[in-house]
Amino acid sequence: MRVYNFSAGPSMLPLPVLEKVKSQLTDYNGTGMSVMEMSHRSKPYQEINDKAESLLRELLSVPEEYDIIFVQGGASTQFEAVPLNLGTNKKADYVVTGNFAKKAFKEAGKFTDAVCVASSEDKNFTYIPKVDASSFRKDADYVHICFNNTIFGSHWSYIPDTAGVPLVADMSSCILSEEIDVKKFGVIYAGAQKNVGPAGVTIVIVRKDMQDKCQSICPTMLKWSTQTKEKSLYNTPPCWSTYVAMEVFQYLKDNGGIKAMHKINVEKAGLLYDFIDNSDFYNNGVAKDDRSLMNVPFVTRDPDTDAKFIAEAAKAGFVSIKGHRLVGGMRASIYNAMPVEGVKKLVEFMKKFELENK
Ligand SMILES: *Cc1c(COP(=O)(O)O)cnc(C)c1O
Repeated sequence: MRVYNFSAGPSMLPLPVLEKVKSQLTDYNGTGMSVMEMSHRSKPYQEINDKAESLLRELLSVPEEYDIIFVQGGASTQFEAVPLNLGTNKKADYVVTGNFAKKAFKEAGKFTDAVCVASSEDKNFTYIPKVDASSFRKDADYVHICFNNTIFGSHWSYIPDTAGVPLVADMSSCILSEEIDVKKFGVIYAGAQKNVGPAGVTIVIVRKDMQDKCQSICPTMLKWSTQTKEKSLYNTPPCWSTYVAMEVFQYLKDNGGIKAMHKINVEKAGLLYDFIDNSDFYNNGVAKDDRSLMNVPFVTRDPDTDAKFIAEAAKAGFVSIKGHRLVGGMRASIYNAMPVEGVKKLVEFMKKFELENK
């Protein structure tokens, strides 16, 4: 039996995608081999690679002046790649809105003059600071933001005006959940294992003019142009993860694209937030305008009751709902693959638990 998996990542994948992948596991498209066994230089893999790129471009309306690459190393490797690729003036401004944003900021400090221009750490990252053009250095190489804060459950409700300084965004936990205006960003990156596919592949969407500003020490493997020139095939790519991601893209396209996904995501998150806000048993402390559609943290009155909730939820088939240690309590991660029904059932369970433990 499949459970409702509320894991923050790796997380649920659409069941039809898993079934399709299973049906092709040992013989992909009549090739007599699995994608796992296939040369990345072979024609069938080239087609998978091309299709992954073109489907993602279509889903997110990525303009021609941007390249899309599929690389290894996770989003965390991009924390280093960003300052090394964008190093003309060796100055970078960071908005620190959570744990990953902070890690990115710290990593950048090794390679560039990184400045934290705004932070919400004063209130344990429960809001997104208001920043505008005056917040940033005019000669900064870029401004870095984390668009959805996976651990703290917050999300930027606006795209900051950086007065022409390129905006770089970590979208690991919200990519494909909502329509985005790619043109507002110089670089977007995202690890796959939240909302895209299996761990192992990382998406980088990078404007062409962001590819000639490298620091001289930038390692070949971290240089975006190394992979954009070779269409992600400079070295052996994470073939399997890219293949499954491609099937997820196809599935999203067949099911109405990102607009349709976003509508469902708004519905799912609304069910949870409305219930939590109308209850005096559960609480979500994130500023209402800044709440994430993907990660919904909540607590009961005390850690013992939280622990009881988590244990009973698991028995009832709602797994991996324990919050991150930095926040405590619970966190329901409700990415694209979580069905509305899963959230409805969770809310029913929460009601029942409340009645029994008030
Ligand atoms: C999970 C996550 C990361 C880290 O991703 P890895 O692929 O494990 O390196 C970075 N940023 C955000 C927003 C995340 O959710």
